[in-house]
Amino acid sequence: MSKPKKLIVVNGKRILVDHDSRKEEYREYNQDRWKYQNDLMKFYNSSRWRKLSKQVLNEHYYVCRRCGEDATLADHIVPVRVDWNKRLDINNIQPLCESCHAIKTIEDKRNYNL
Ligand SMILES: [Zn+2]
Repeated sequence: MSKPKKLIVVNGKRILVDHDSRKEEYREYNQDRWKYQNDLMKFYNSSRWRKLSKQVLNEHYYVCRRCGEDATLADHIVPVRVDWNKRLDINNIQPLCESCHAIKTIEDKRNYNL
């Protein structure tokens, strides 16, 4: 007879584990994760980030760095989750359109195992 399983989230992936396995560890992990998401949200709402992202878009004339279409947002080349210290580094920020940003987000997830 198999043990009861439960669904947990590790690195953004859902996996099934034995119901009683490493409970504490995952709880801590998820708490850290939540704290981090909170910091991330604060950062994206900060006036420093808003100013900087506008500046990047302006400097590149609102042109998507990947496809040349109209850029609508500023993207972190190295994701903030990977290097928090580069979140305000202008050399780490590029203008992207929505569709290129969607692709970049998928690439980041794959490349950095986010
Ligand atoms: Zn684009």
